[in-house]
Amino acid sequence: MTVRMADMSWPDYEAKIKNGAVVMLPVGSIEQHSYHLPLGVDRYLPAAVAEEAAQTLNAVVAEPIVYGARSQMRMGGGQTYPGTTSLRPDTLMAVLRDVLTAFVDHGAKKIAIVNGHYENMMFTYEAADLALREAKILGIDDVAIMRFEYWDYMTKETIAALFPDGYPGMELEHAALIETSLMLHYRPALVDMARLPQEAPGDFPTYDLFPATRAGVPPSGALSPPNRATAEYGARIAADCVAGIRRDIAAVFG
Ligand code: ZN
Ligand code: MN
Repeated sequence: MTVRMADMSWPDYEAKIKNGAVVMLPVGSIEQHSYHLPLGVDRYLPAAVAEEAAQTLNAVVAEPIVYGARSQMRMGGGQTYPGTTSLRPDTLMAVLRDVLTAFVDHGAKKIAIVNGHYENMMFTYEAADLALREAKILGIDDVAIMRFEYWDYMTKETIAALFPDGYPGMELEHAALIETSLMLHYRPALVDMARLPQEAPGDFPTYDLFPATRAGVPPSGALSPPNRATAEYGARIAADCVAGIRRDIAAVFG
């Protein structure tokens, strides 16, 4: 049977929830990802990892929140690229709260937010807190929400193997080695390796400046070179993420 909520009938979904299933909510973005990757990378990857992890869990993967928080220059290239389509903070918070609250209304007691876009971090954090406060006001105090960034489940060994010269940090990994490898693994038809950028990494000041420009962002929008990406790396990263998510969801929710 499918793990995807959108592909289930309501009685099937209801039965899963009554059976104590974890509702996993991928949260992504529509954002430039250089010349060689599609705009939906941050929407596809957390959903792909969540759906794979869910195969051996008592879990339902909800339809992702496709749009995310405003792209920042130093972690996503910023808002100046055509296609980058973001929600304002209050809109994103409202969407997250409504969706999380709906799961609570359905009777879900275990919710896991699977974030795939760096800038969503604090918003998903706040939304989890607010949704539980709202539930508590309604007298529901037995719901737990966990949240995480899927890439944080890469092991030290994998990071060392991928980055023998040092890991630049996920914020500079935008459209770079990790995301390109994962897309080669999960969605190879959407990757155009003939269009890999040939550029130096992004070079940013310590501050943010408004109005935002592309200063310091490599022309393609990739913040680090993706050139060494392979499907094999992608499979290794995906295996780490799936195993880590399965382990932690089982540990937290039993
Ligand atoms: Zn991304
Ligand atoms: Mn992003």
